[in-house]
Amino acid sequence: MDISVIIPLFNEEESLPELHAWIKRVMDENGFSYEIIFVNDGSTDRSWNVIEDIRKENPEVKGIKFRRNYGKSPALYCGFERAEGDVVITMDADLQDSPDEIPELRRMIVEDGFDLVSGFKMNRKQGDPLSKTIPTKLFNATARAVSGIHNLHDFNCGLKAYRREVVKNIEVYGEMHRYIPYLAKNAGFTRIGEKPVHHQARKFGKSKFMGWNRFVNGYLDLLSLWFLDSFGLKPMHVFGFIGTLMFMFGFLATMMVGVNKIYCLATGIPARLVTDNPYFYIALTMMILGTQLFVAGFLGELISRNSTERNKYQIEKEI
Ligand code: UDP
Ligand code: MG
Repeated sequence: MDISVIIPLFNEEESLPELHAWIKRVMDENGFSYEIIFVNDGSTDRSWNVIEDIRKENPEVKGIKFRRNYGKSPALYCGFERAEGDVVITMDADLQDSPDEIPELRRMIVEDGFDLVSGFKMNRKQGDPLSKTIPTKLFNATARAVSGIHNLHDFNCGLKAYRREVVKNIEVYGEMHRYIPYLAKNAGFTRIGEKPVHHQARKFGKSKFMGWNRFVNGYLDLLSLWFLDSFGLKPMHVFGFIGTLMFMFGFLATMMVGVNKIYCLATGIPARLVTDNPYFYIALTMMILGTQLFVAGFLGELISRNSTERNKYQIEKEI
């Protein structure tokens, strides 16, 4: 099979028939063998009935129905598990992404040898408010810096193409769909490309992601990924190092306090109370914090030793 198209959706009943017809037209024109996997993420409207209706006349359409709304990442995860095509395309269900981009995305994977090609919504003037576009710019700049994938302008574009191996070897969870290129890079798929794509205003319904909290969560997710990537397998290296450093500082400060006191007593200079010495407080905090960090590193190490993932490495080939 050439292509699997995965479409996560939450309450998108109006868009589905048009989206399906459009994808079908593009596929037939290009003679691709394909499947379309609709992942219904707990919609409360008639989306699932619409999918069942489409499925009746189109055996290449498949559906997964969640019992409740889990989010876009879990929906993508289940689609990825089921996908059989050599190239896997993800797109949103709201008709904002154009199926006309599929042939070129596929060509970039198959002929240009990319592992992952991300869409880049260049003309997103219409529809999206400033309160969405400015944070998006900031978000992408940070994601580029942290992930080290400098050629991507638009991490969060729903339209992406993958080599099948990629989606079978990454685990999208929580709200990590925003960072799939980073997940792929961490798994060793480094040929990541970008293609400018057409992007339209939402035709029906409204955006399912609103408000500022998604940026806060987005940054926290990015931080987790960065940490997992850098120290996930060796937490002691970071916590233990900082902990030891702080503890040493604290120890030095203790020495200063002690030596100072003894010196004063020995020479008869009126000695001040240890608690009046600022070094006393430095010593106290540093030693407590240092010990805590050290323990955190040790606990992290114990947890990672117990994890089933501890020896999960990406093996590309064996002969
Ligand atoms: N979506 C989903 N589960 C959710 C929220 C959204 O499957 O909990 C789907 C939604 O139906 C759409 C895609 O994810 O197909 C992108 O959502 P949306 O268009 O609302 O996001 P935006 O384009 O505003 O970033
Ligand atoms: Mg959308």
